[in-house]
Amino acid sequence: MAVMTRSKTNWQDWLEAAAALVYPGICQICRDQKSDAREGFVCGNCRSQVQTVRPPFCSRCGLPHDGDITSNYECGNCLNQAFDFRYARAAVINKSVVQEALRRFKYSGAVWFEPFLVELLVNESISMLNPKDWDVIVPVPLHPVKQRTRGFNQAEILGRGLSQASGIKINTTLLARHLPTPTQTTLARAARLQNMQGAFRVKNVKRLDKQRVVLVDDIFTTGATTNACAKALKAAGSAEVCVWTVARGL
Ligand SMILES: [Zn+2]
Ligand SMILES: [Zn+2]
Repeated sequence: MAVMTRSKTNWQDWLEAAAALVYPGICQICRDQKSDAREGFVCGNCRSQVQTVRPPFCSRCGLPHDGDITSNYECGNCLNQAFDFRYARAAVINKSVVQEALRRFKYSGAVWFEPFLVELLVNESISMLNPKDWDVIVPVPLHPVKQRTRGFNQAEILGRGLSQASGIKINTTLLARHLPTPTQTTLARAARLQNMQGAFRVKNVKRLDKQRVVLVDDIFTTGATTNACAKALKAAGSAEVCVWTVARGL
């Protein structure tokens, strides 16, 4: 049996044991190569297909750009839209292996992908997240009804992993989602941004005073959700907000 690290929670121990019973050492993406709980059941082959976000990308929203740009630039979307976060960055592109793992993690309860997803996020963000520069990690909250139905908040799981790796404390109760928002996939960009305004509120304004916040979510697409969070955080006294997500939608 593998040696458990001290920082592991009972929940993770339980998860590994349960996953190992159901999926004995097989990659849960290709279902062909060997992989274990520690790797989040994603094998080396499948991992090699993961595309890390690399420059050049928009200095504000992190949108990757095909071609050679060496200077700092902002994409067309950001020139038309004043985001409330200082910058948004994602670890990898939301496609193939990552897209499947995230979708199944969120909607099918495939919680054994957690180590894989946390690892992607931590690997790319850790060098930029010094505890001297950032005070608190805040995961994008789900509406309470949705959280009850799903049983967990994927952003919170990712945020906890990042907190453990970076040493920046996490606060999961500071920000709340009080409006259940409809599925946004069919809405146009402007409508999405509008749709999210006012969906979040800060519950303890005192605790947020001048805090520099790392907002964490699973995917960044238009920035509607994270920007609505950043707006609420800034309005409640946060000095600075940056966004980190595992994946970047294109
Ligand atoms: Zn595989
Ligand atoms: Zn941009």
